[in-house]
Amino acid sequence: MPQGPMSDTEIERYARHLILREVGGVGQQKLRKSRILVIGAGGLGSPVLQYLAAAGVGTLGVIDDDIVSLSNLQRQVLFDEDQLDMPKVFAAKAKLTALNPHIIIRSYNRRLSQENAKELFGEYDLVLDGTDNYQTRSLVNAACVTSKTPLISGAISQWEGQVSLFDPASGTPCYACIFPDEPADGLAPSCAEVGVMGALPGIIGSIMASEAIKYITGAGQMLAGEMLIFDALYGESRKIALHKTAGCAVCGAILDIEKM
Ligand SMILES: [Zn+2]
Repeated sequence: MPQGPMSDTEIERYARHLILREVGGVGQQKLRKSRILVIGAGGLGSPVLQYLAAAGVGTLGVIDDDIVSLSNLQRQVLFDEDQLDMPKVFAAKAKLTALNPHIIIRSYNRRLSQENAKELFGEYDLVLDGTDNYQTRSLVNAACVTSKTPLISGAISQWEGQVSLFDPASGTPCYACIFPDEPADGLAPSCAEVGVMGALPGIIGSIMASEAIKYITGAGQMLAGEMLIFDALYGESRKIALHKTAGCAVCGAILDIEKM
């Protein structure tokens, strides 16, 4: 983690944050000391990683077991043609280090499992999940609830995306309160099956990065207990309120034990 006062180059690099009332020197130091784990270096992971690296998040972890493919480049603008077939986390580290050498990038070239999630999540202040399948999302949620790590969750399909903060330790629902069961076959098709508009992950991933910067600096009001939904096809956005499910299999039991 970067230590001590900011260098002159860092002060110049973060100048637009430093004059922003809600961030300032105090907020920038919080970003510098923060540790954020990004699950998946795909469509959403790419802009999340780029903006958090550029913003000066001191320790940025990324876990993914995939390689860069040609069909990724329609939207995953973190990568380029020279990086085809490279493990995504190493390709990402090379690009992010070139973007900002003042931060630490930790690359985990593996699939997230119950075991490594338990080890990893405790080392981070915040987790951002942009993965595209229910099993991984559920695993991330359960590990976040257990380790009391807040989760900023984003999802995209075709022309529509959504973002929310799940942090049951602070009174919000968890992901499983809203999505308790795996969707039936065909009801939640992947982007590979039904497509996704190239700029959409940039929009939704940038909102996720913005929520992360707000969370770390304490600026503004989080999407806590709310879900922001953006429909690119009609240029419309709306917010819906989210509520805890009584007896939620993931967060209900843990919170009940704490109340005793
Ligand atoms: Zn829950």
